[in-house]
Amino acid sequence: MTRPVHRVAPTTDTAIRQDGLRAHNLILTFQQIVGARQAPISRSELATGTGLTRPTISRIVDELLAAGLIVEAGPARSGSSGRPRVGLSLARTGPAGLGLDLRAGALSACVVDLAGAVRHLDFAAHAGREVPPGETLASLAAMAGKAVRAAAADGLTVVGTTFAAPGPVQDDSLVRFAPALGWRDVDAGATLSALTGSTVVVGNDAALATLGELYAGSAELRDFVCVSGEFDIGAGVVLAGGPLHGSRGHLGHVMVDGDGPPCACGATGCLQGYAGLREILAAAGADDPAVAPAVAIDALVSAGSPAILAALDRAATALGVAVSALLNLVEVDTVLLGGGYSLLASWLIEGVEREISQRVLSARWSPVQVRPAPLGPDAAVIGAALNSIDQVRRDPNRWLAHTRP
Ligand SMILES: [Zn+2]
Repeated sequence: MTRPVHRVAPTTDTAIRQDGLRAHNLILTFQQIVGARQAPISRSELATGTGLTRPTISRIVDELLAAGLIVEAGPARSGSSGRPRVGLSLARTGPAGLGLDLRAGALSACVVDLAGAVRHLDFAAHAGREVPPGETLASLAAMAGKAVRAAAADGLTVVGTTFAAPGPVQDDSLVRFAPALGWRDVDAGATLSALTGSTVVVGNDAALATLGELYAGSAELRDFVCVSGEFDIGAGVVLAGGPLHGSRGHLGHVMVDGDGPPCACGATGCLQGYAGLREILAAAGADDPAVAPAVAIDALVSAGSPAILAALDRAATALGVAVSALLNLVEVDTVLLGGGYSLLASWLIEGVEREISQRVLSARWSPVQVRPAPLGPDAAVIGAALNSIDQVRRDPNRWLAHTRP
């Protein structure tokens, strides 16, 4: 059998090569401005940082200014000659990312701008598994429409939407299993895309929460695990300042007790049965689906309930056992307690740290710090919005092509 012969266009065309080089230099320059984290950066600092010539930097800066991706931030600092330099920073208008999220008791929508600042955050009550998936997704689509209009009123154009789903996701679209909601094989991406009229990407909520905490954290926070307890307990891993791709993060289904109770996943003795927020409440004989479980637990602790303190103690031990298994495999120096756990951190940290110090081999010479995650329950929706703007932050050329006259 012979293969059909295709004529291949010559790839040595000078114009194409020059376009490629221009696009590459523009990405290189833009990355320096993004990396400055809103601290104004001068044209000469850009030339030093990229190794490009001053005229090339000037041309690129003019192009980014004309496209509205960056702004002149005024004389930011003085050079060695004492001459004031005009600082450049990311614009607060232009492209924006939209995130959608489903958490215990609520739906939420969030818009972030190019700098990663939250510009719109909206919530709507949600009755959990009593609501059919179609109805939930229609409510999320309505919130997305409202968020897009709010963003437009602020001079922002939503360029992408990501939905943070509480369970494993296949092909950035299909939610395979979300036990807290009773979802199985719900194609949330296809449904939301049809309802909103634009492509909606679906990601796992714990992974997106980790992305949110990575952006929100200090520059020193480079190797950490973020454990999110909102519905299903999940964990995201960040190594060398970047998310670990390919990590499944289903921490809730790590076995902590071989003789433990059956889990919704079909196995027995899963962490979820001991440290899930609803399971902590149930162990203390209290569960009110109308109240976010972390808030309900907090209220019981404040009222001095011995049953909830015992349930939290048991949860902390189980969480510490499961996290230790993870920390024996990846080298991180920090564990962030995220999602609903961030509100309960003061009752969990001691137990988690105790288990880590006993079970993680390297903890003897390299201690691991456990602390509440700064964004807490909002991390997943903010991370989803950041994921949506990330393509422009990485490569502004597509936005430029869209805005060029
Ligand atoms: Zn399980």
